[in-house]
Amino acid sequence: RPARVAALIDDLNDQQRRAVEHAGTPLLVVAGAGSGKTRVLTRRIAYLLAERDVHPGQVMAITFTNKAAAEMKERVADLVGRRANAMWVSTFHSMCVRVLRREAKSLGMGSSFSIYDADDSRRLLTLVARDLDLDPKRYPARTLSVHISNLKNELVDAETAAQNAGNDLERRVAEVYAEYQRRLTQANAMDFDDLIMRTVELLQAFPDVAEYYHRRFRYVLVDEYQDTNHAQYTLVRELVGKGNDGLPPAELCVVGDADQSIYAFRGATIRNIVEFERDYPNATTVLLEQNYRSTQNILTAANAVISRNPNRRDKRLWTAMGDGEKIVAYVGDNEHDEANFVANEIDRLVDSGAANNSDVAVFYRTNNQSRVFEEIFIRLGLPYRVVGGVRFYERREIRDALAYLRVLANPDDTVSLRRVLNVPKRGIGDRAEACVSAYADRERVSFAAALRAATEGKVPLLNPRSQRAISGFVELVDGLRRFVDDGQDVAEVLDAVLEQTGYRAELEASDDPQDASRLENLNELITVAREFTEAPEVMAPDDAPEGIEPVEQTGPAAGSLAAFLERVSLVADADSIPDAEDTGGVVTLMTLHTAKGLEYPVVFSTGWEDGIFPHMRALSDPVELAEERRLAYVGITRARERLYLSRAIVRSAWGQPMTNPASRFFDEIPPDLLDWRRLGPERSMPTRATTWGSRSSESVQASRQRSSPTRGWQDAPSLSLSVGDRVNHDKYGLGTVIASEGQGARATATIDFGTSGTIRLMLIGGVPMVKL
Ligand code: ATP
Ligand code: MG
Repeated sequence: RPARVAALIDDLNDQQRRAVEHAGTPLLVVAGAGSGKTRVLTRRIAYLLAERDVHPGQVMAITFTNKAAAEMKERVADLVGRRANAMWVSTFHSMCVRVLRREAKSLGMGSSFSIYDADDSRRLLTLVARDLDLDPKRYPARTLSVHISNLKNELVDAETAAQNAGNDLERRVAEVYAEYQRRLTQANAMDFDDLIMRTVELLQAFPDVAEYYHRRFRYVLVDEYQDTNHAQYTLVRELVGKGNDGLPPAELCVVGDADQSIYAFRGATIRNIVEFERDYPNATTVLLEQNYRSTQNILTAANAVISRNPNRRDKRLWTAMGDGEKIVAYVGDNEHDEANFVANEIDRLVDSGAANNSDVAVFYRTNNQSRVFEEIFIRLGLPYRVVGGVRFYERREIRDALAYLRVLANPDDTVSLRRVLNVPKRGIGDRAEACVSAYADRERVSFAAALRAATEGKVPLLNPRSQRAISGFVELVDGLRRFVDDGQDVAEVLDAVLEQTGYRAELEASDDPQDASRLENLNELITVAREFTEAPEVMAPDDAPEGIEPVEQTGPAAGSLAAFLERVSLVADADSIPDAEDTGGVVTLMTLHTAKGLEYPVVFSTGWEDGIFPHMRALSDPVELAEERRLAYVGITRARERLYLSRAIVRSAWGQPMTNPASRFFDEIPPDLLDWRRLGPERSMPTRATTWGSRSSESVQASRQRSSPTRGWQDAPSLSLSVGDRVNHDKYGLGTVIASEGQGARATATIDFGTSGTIRLMLIGGVPMVKL
């Protein structure tokens, strides 16, 4: 064998090698966590190119996050060089956008369609429900959105939904659904579920389009197959083809683990993995059994927990790593105590040289649990990064700015247009908006066209003042659009938007400290835009295999406004997970859902309380409980060497202290694997009983106050810093303040410490730092 091929398979076990070398028929690789499924997928691509003379342009691989896609591309590029660029490696959504941009006309859409996220989609649903006179209490947009999304995940269109509707709610939903789709098309927009559903529609309705993609993609690979829903499953089937257009079906390889299926709420179903052999009758299945990630103790705990789930295929994972450390379990008096434990333990591990900050991940069940960790990490100067949570792109000012840009890129984008119509305030009130909207409805024109009609006095009942205000707005937008047409950079356009709309001036004039941080966020957005222009993500020149016409980019040109907006809409939580090398070492905080597919030497899984994890919803529902248990399995199996499980006796929720019982998942782990560092009162063990076992709730209360990390904040003097100040920190050295937020005891500063990274610190008294 040539050396390059040997290098691709020599360090694989027999089963992995079989999966990499398998040729001809559909292949399913099923295996537990950490058994090398993703590794097999990547190696298989490289092997196809290196050994089987496959052209990279014939390969389509689907991963769960854009980040995973980028990593996979990079790894394949390491193996086969620049040729890797011609592959399509992306998420389902990005892949569909790419197809839809090219084929939009067939679906009656423009190729520069907007992509509506959950918030945009709810706004549109609110408008639709209002126009249909639905009671917002009975039919809140959120509920409508869940129902419509479920229908789309099942590929049910509005007409079919109406036919199938069996009760009042379903009839209403179908009615809203039909109108919502009409408005989306009118706004030249698609929501996230449409991206998948309409691609399926395209491939099913246009055999020539389907044939083009069949000819093009001969090798289709899908990671995390257990999390595909029905629409995604069908999409894969359509891409692979059934051989009825004269082309044999593409070679399909999917990898997954039914025990890690954690997206049932988005319609994911393990049916797709369980019935793979039925769906693809000549399929081959490969099982992987060796885990290369975790110690035996971690693996035994994971296996023990997941084995409680009913109706699953038992698999026995083993590891050659040895037993390793015991799993550390901790019971905090309250959530602050729990977070304190985590922070101190990280400090101890780092000081003793056992780990770096970047080796550590902290998981929780829901995003709001990150706050307590953040407070303590900031106080202790422990650098960290939260993945997800209140996302940058969800902040009000960022959404406003992006809405302006979207209006410039796609004039028909009604949701964005109405969002900024009176932001900042320019005298176009709700009544005027309603008049314009009614006109648009009656004349069946877009909202943008109705606005223009208003400037010509064609919209009835509009008072002259509103008409003047609308004329001003239309002129403003036209003027800004000329910037785009003149080919200005995205950053320049954005700057002009903030300037000419008066958005920036309004924030500058405000003395609300919140507005100061809004300005900083907008500056950050300009920086993002500038970086985008300087290093646009040039789509690989679509160098298709010989004889096949390349997929031309009818979509946005590299570096264009539309390309920028597309990138911003497809950002997912997991895409912002820092790479250990880039961050200079920060601890990563994220939800269990986001952690899928990742691995860390040290993992803290927190909030192990009945009602938190497993989630409240699951306590009385066996189906939900099984899903939570899979989530526990995912969490535990992210750890390579050290695993910590913790809970708090008292935790505040909605401003009230709540006493939560221990998570039932604790009891599912063999007790001899657990090293209880500290026990709560109801979990007394003989050796520790004298210390912790006999506490009354009163003394818990007392110690809660003693150990409360927030003690003294209110009166602590804080270091006063502003942007541009230079500082010297005992641990991180010299730095420059790049942002400051909050006041008094809550003041924080974000400081660029050069090679030590950019760190956000709380400026309470005692921070080991001086202003220079
Ligand atoms: P998950 O179910 O969590 O997605 P996975 O099955 O995809 O896990 P990988 O992430 O591919 O597993 O592999 C887990 C770890 O084991 C990775 O660090 C990978 O590099 C390593 N690994 C996989 N196979 C081998 C092997 N044959 N030899 C050495 N290390 C391996
Ligand atoms: Mg994986």
